[in-house]
Amino acid sequence: MRQPKPVAAGRRHARRRARRWRIAIGVGAAIAALAAGRPTSGSAQTGVSGACTVSDASPDGPAVWSSASQSLWGCEGWVYAFAVRNQRVTYGRWSGARAISVSMNGVALTADEGAQPLQWKLDMVDYLRTLVEDGQQDVDGFWRRLVVAEPGPVEQFARASPAVYTSPRRVAFLADSTPTPCGVIAADNAHYCSGDSTVYLGRAFFLGELSLGGNFLPILILSHEWGHHIQNILDLNPLGIPRSLNSTNIELQADCFAGLYAADAARRGLLDPGDVEEAANSLYRARDRHKYPWFTVGAHGTADERIAAWHYGQQHGLAGCLGRMFVDQ
Ligand SMILES: [Zn+2]
Repeated sequence: MRQPKPVAAGRRHARRRARRWRIAIGVGAAIAALAAGRPTSGSAQTGVSGACTVSDASPDGPAVWSSASQSLWGCEGWVYAFAVRNQRVTYGRWSGARAISVSMNGVALTADEGAQPLQWKLDMVDYLRTLVEDGQQDVDGFWRRLVVAEPGPVEQFARASPAVYTSPRRVAFLADSTPTPCGVIAADNAHYCSGDSTVYLGRAFFLGELSLGGNFLPILILSHEWGHHIQNILDLNPLGIPRSLNSTNIELQADCFAGLYAADAARRGLLDPGDVEEAANSLYRARDRHKYPWFTVGAHGTADERIAAWHYGQQHGLAGCLGRMFVDQ
């Protein structure tokens, strides 16, 4: 996902970066291979992506992972290093670099001689907040456009009258468990509450996903919760089944809506290669561990169902996500 504006870098850098977000390329598979060789000492979790190919271009052979640094050869573009141990995110752009080393503690990124580094170091919470604020504006704008652009499906399936888009009243970041009109929401969760039209995002949950999978995941979760807001304001209720008994379908429709947004973001060049795989992994982590009967209260769907619903939204558009049962057995 595109990078958030650096908090301390100033306008000049932010503008320059906005034009360059397209080159934030994920190298998930390569990183996984590198991570497999990661030493077990220390507790740092570091994820890296950049427009790098881990290849044999290095005169010393393939890139290696050591306890001190990770070298990616053939790099040109963005690199992010998420270091959970010290709650820092370091990322930057290198021009003309052949190699970029990422320190395990996430506070030092160095490029080879002659490269022109441009980098930012942010507290993880600040980074996350900025990322989500950007994502929030983008998801909001997406739905505002879509509801106007596709009145046919909206009028066919929305029971709200008038069926118009309104933004959630608030997006709240929770540092701790917080009482809401929908009950107490924990910091390791995310929830949309129709009672106060608020998207609640638990900080611990978001930091965990950020460090596990990359910077698209907070946006994936946000767009799923936004999907519940859409269900609420348009009063969508597939087949008129009581919501409490239709949890799986409601959740899978929210995944479908998140897929709609992802497809649009991809068309606008905001996604990086690797983001789709990141998303699938995240949906897998958020799966129901068992296949519950579809009418089970609180069920979300199996990993296959959730990933399929997200892809379905990408492929079939708004009309595809509306008026259907995702599971009925
Ligand atoms: Zn949900």
